[in-house]
This record gives sequence, structure tokens and C-alpha cells, in this order.
Amino acid sequence: MTLVHDESSSVTHDRISDRVAQSVLDLITRGELMPGARLPGERQIAETMQVSRVSVRAALQQLKAQGFLAAVQGGGTRVLSSVKVMDEPLTEMVRQQVENLYDLAEIRVVLESWAARRAAVRATPPQIEELRALLDRLGDPARRAVRATDDLAFHLAMAKMAGSAVYMHILAVLRDTLKQKVSFHRKELFVGGKDAVTLEHHRDVLAAIEKHDPDAAAQAMAVHLNWVLKHYSALRENPTLAKVDVAPVEDVAPVE
Ligand SMILES: [Zn+2]
Repeated sequence: MTLVHDESSSVTHDRISDRVAQSVLDLITRGELMPGARLPGERQIAETMQVSRVSVRAALQQLKAQGFLAAVQGGGTRVLSSVKVMDEPLTEMVRQQVENLYDLAEIRVVLESWAARRAAVRATPPQIEELRALLDRLGDPARRAVRATDDLAFHLAMAKMAGSAVYMHILAVLRDTLKQKVSFHRKELFVGGKDAVTLEHHRDVLAAIEKHDPDAAAQAMAVHLNWVLKHYSALRENPTLAKVDVAPVEDVAPVE
């Protein structure tokens, strides 16, 4: 069957869907739509942009084909990490060698110290307020069982405060790589007096950001993650620890 091609209407329609696609792409580039974020529904986008749902659907299809978006099970669309192409080889590499996991942790020290520096410069009062609330949760004895998740939330909030879409996309790749494929013994990090140590680390990061002191923020984050890194050294010397099947939350780059 051959479709009849109506030149005039198809050109107009293409232009509108291209415009919609470009607008969505702009939101991703500016970091207003982060990796993993869900897009509003077709109807809502159509109303906001004052275009037809058909144009919105065509635009979203185009962005899916280009690898910027993916369909979510049960409906909806989410933003993919723009550097997804790195993901599979990196994942395989890390799975094969504990040594590589150590490298990733080292890289994270550098990346997150950079983010802490930026967060100290750019943090808004509401963002600092959010970080304070997250620190309170981290110090709450009643939330012991979800400490790793709370820790991750703190790092994620700080990463967002850095206000860089590029940074969030890089972290998304590291996060997926470690979270999905690597089993790591990380219970060690959250037992005994170590809880108090990491709480103090996070408190120092917050204090530096509150004072808008970039050097102190970078320094505090480096202290925290180098401490985490020391525990990887133990893993490196005794790789059998890696067989324990626990998701490495503390050691995962914080992006949701
Ligand atoms: Zn932490």
C-alpha cells in the first residue's frame, strides 16, 4: 500500500513536531529534565505548547529514535542518559575487574568534589534547606535500615545544586553501571562507629555549602569519598568480599 503524500499539511506538521522536539531537547540540555526524569503526558505537553497531540507524539517518537527518550512500562516517557552508549562496555569492564571498580570510585572523588565546589557557589536558600533536612534524616537512628538510601539522597541533592546537566548525565552512566551490575560488600560502611564518621563528613559538606565556601566544600567531599575509597582498598586485597550480593548504594554516583 502506498500512502498518499499531502505535501502542504505534512510540511506544516513536520515543522511543528520538530519545534516540539527541539523544545524538549532544550530542557534536557539545560538540565531542567534530568536523566531518568519522567516527561509530562502528551496532552499536558500539547496544552502547554499549544500544539496538537499528534505533533507531540511525533516529536517524542523522533527523540526516542534518537536515543534521548525511552518509553516507560505502563505508559509515559523518561529521559535517557545522553552518554548511554558508554554504558554497556563500561558495565562489562567493571563486572570483570574489582580493580576497575576502584578506578571508578577514585574518579568519583574528583567528580563529586567538583560538584561540591559548584554547589557551594550556586546553592539557593531552598536547596540548602533541603540538604539540611536530608542530613537530619541521615542522623535519625530510626532510619538506620534505610541509611544507604538517605546517603544517596544527600549526594543526589548536592549534585543537583551544582546545576550542570553535563555532570548529571555523566553521573547517570556511573550510577547505572555500578547499581545494575556490580555486587559489592558495602555493609561494612554502615556499621558501628562508621555511621557517626560518615554523618560527620556530610555535616562538613553541608556547613561549607551553607557558608558558600567552594574550597571547603570540595575538601569536605574529598575527605568523605576518600574514606569510602579506603574501604575499596580492603576489597581489592580481598576480592571474595565482592561476592556478597548487596547493591553498592554509597558507592554509586547519585542520580535518580
Ligand atoms: Zn555519602
